[in-house]
Amino acid sequence: MTTPELPPEETEPKERVAHPFRTLRELVDFVSSKSLPPAEPEEGLRTEALPFPFLAIVGQKEMKLALLLGLINPSVGGILLVGPRGTAKTTAVRSLLDILPKVDRSLCYYGCLPEDIETGGIDAVCPDCAKKYAEGQPLSAPDRVRLVELPLNARLEDVVGGIDERLAVTHERLRVRRGILAQADRNLLYIDEINLLADDIVDAILDAAAQGSYTVRRGPISATYHARFVLVGSMNPEEGRLRPQILDRFGLRVIVRGLDDLAERLEAYRRVQAYLANPRGMAVTYGEETLAAAEEIQSARAQLPKVLLPDKVAKPAIKLVQKMGIDSLRAEISWFEAARAYAAADARDKVTPEDLQAVAPMTLRLRRSQFMAEYFSSQEGEEVEMNTLLDRLKRK
Ligand SMILES: [Zn+2]
Repeated sequence: MTTPELPPEETEPKERVAHPFRTLRELVDFVSSKSLPPAEPEEGLRTEALPFPFLAIVGQKEMKLALLLGLINPSVGGILLVGPRGTAKTTAVRSLLDILPKVDRSLCYYGCLPEDIETGGIDAVCPDCAKKYAEGQPLSAPDRVRLVELPLNARLEDVVGGIDERLAVTHERLRVRRGILAQADRNLLYIDEINLLADDIVDAILDAAAQGSYTVRRGPISATYHARFVLVGSMNPEEGRLRPQILDRFGLRVIVRGLDDLAERLEAYRRVQAYLANPRGMAVTYGEETLAAAEEIQSARAQLPKVLLPDKVAKPAIKLVQKMGIDSLRAEISWFEAARAYAAADARDKVTPEDLQAVAPMTLRLRRSQFMAEYFSSQEGEEVEMNTLLDRLKRK
């Protein structure tokens, strides 16, 4: 597992005690509900440098599960967190920093990977990478997934990229500058308050997310970048609704509510206090389990390609989607991919009906469209009317 790219602090302890939990979910649930030892305040630390530990988030099981499934299987198709302010949505996303898995990262500006050649042939990569490949040089190196946050004031040019002005002046050459979407390749792209983002920007992001790449054209030059990322969006519905076509693009949808339980609220308060007083101490308190969770996620990712969905499990699920009146094919794609990730986290190689059940609410909610239901029933009415008129015409 150790590679030369790792920072030194991650290669230290070798004798790690195997955690006593059978599954990643057991680990997360156990650590989330244990109470915290008293914290010694430490002065002069920047809290934002050290995220609140993921495992220290109290309650919010479905939100945590959705984020973990997204890390295990990027094909779940993005995660949308819907809820009021102060429900730890942003904290939860940022807390993923310590458990992000490793991926093969392209060494090239355009994001070329050896697997692109395996699937699309030598023309699927840029000329430089084609040459490197022919010479047997590596096109990628292992690297940790990064968390890329889209600023709310981002312009379309920042998102997709623009002309590199500096290069144009100094080298009398035109090159398209990499945008945030290209930087998000093989990473996690987080957009807070996605419902407040301008339509053109959201459309560009969703198109890139759907295709896994995008092309920028500026006059005579064009460039195509890979953009295979897990999109995480959060929104407060009180501050503006989300367009239905955007909602449709998110595979997992979590309604995040405040904690109901008094004891949980108190524990959440204590942990925030402990974190603010001593963020490093907090990271140490949860260090061992955080490391164990990160390893579990990595091995679940390795397990994922082996996880199959039997027909006899899939067919009744599709029937249920139809029965619910959900038209979007994305519903069952996300449902099945989330269930595969869920089975992978349990180190199994077959999806069971129980796996489907466990992830059904987050994949199927907010899928039924009132508009489409009314549209189809009015269409039916029109057809009945038309047939009646045609019948009368025949009788004359
Ligand atoms: Zn390349």
